Amino acid sequence: MKNKLIIIAPCYNEEAIIEYSIQKLNSVIEELISKNLVSAESKICFVDDGSMDKTVDIIKKNCETNEKISLIELTKNYGQQNAILAGLNSVDADMVITIDADLQDDLLIINEMIKKYYEGYEIVYGVRKKRETDSFLKKTTAFLFYKFMNLIGIKIRQNHSEFRLMSRFTINHLKQYKEKTIFLRGIVQDLGLKSIDLYYNGTERIAGETKYSVFKLFGLAWTAITSFSVFPLRVITFVGILTSFSSLIILIYAMISYFKHYSVPGWTSIIITIAFFAGIIIMSLGIIGEYLGKILIEVKDRPLYQIKDTINI
Ligand code: UDP
Ligand code: MG
Repeated sequence: MKNKLIIIAPCYNEEAIIEYSIQKLNSVIEELISKNLVSAESKICFVDDGSMDKTVDIIKKNCETNEKISLIELTKNYGQQNAILAGLNSVDADMVITIDADLQDDLLIINEMIKKYYEGYEIVYGVRKKRETDSFLKKTTAFLFYKFMNLIGIKIRQNHSEFRLMSRFTINHLKQYKEKTIFLRGIVQDLGLKSIDLYYNGTERIAGETKYSVFKLFGLAWTAITSFSVFPLRVITFVGILTSFSSLIILIYAMISYFKHYSVPGWTSIIITIAFFAGIIIMSLGIIGEYLGKILIEVKDRPLYQIKDTINI
């Protein structure tokens, strides 16, 4: 008896490409079943993340004629991370593969992923070999992000996004993480389960546009940093110590000037000192506020998503 696979694909305003994705993923599942690599109940689950275009209608139409296509419809746009989580929490499968609905990832390695699963790996990461299809801005910001994360001691896989296979055991483990500000990639890696990387070439989007603006990407990076490390808070302490020392020097200088009766004009140095410390204090308050805000979000314990409808689940 082979194991049940569910492919989870979050989608947000993907009407330009969703029909193509459905057909492609459907043929992948059918091939896997016919090769007897996965059980006949295996499915594809699209999680509609509050699309405002025809995405849901197109998925629903396919659900009617094909029970291998299933849908989880969220009430509004909760973001890709939460959409994936809605999928993971709702399906019952021995293994799950998460993949973006725009199919920029290589479907051919899915076969290999499943083989690795049967070899006993709990997580199989799809890792992009090159990012030449990405824009210069995306490439450099991604590179700087990985470097910075490594520097502050958060190990995340370079060039791996959300394309990965996870076993049932992994998903059950993941469900125990109750935090609200989610950075899935970081948490999955943090589980420390037996895993392996599979490399592939990413492709350009065939249709539609990226749903990740620079702001959204920056937001995700910030979530990743602040939910995995207290490094920014440490920086404050460090800067605090440094400025205390430098103000000590200023103090000594001021004392000497006082006793030697130098008639120092004084204004410039005062303004500079005030501006310098005001900057540091405001920055420090901001960073502390960030973490405080995070605690507020956790304490409020709001739902991460709300399901409006499900079909064929
Ligand atoms: N996505 C989502 N909710 C969002 C933004 C994106 O479900 O708020 C989905 C989107 O439909 C796609 C995947 O997440 O399937 C990755 O988004 P996108 O391709 O726009 O990101 P990129 O590949 O450009 O980083
Ligand atoms: Mg994409």
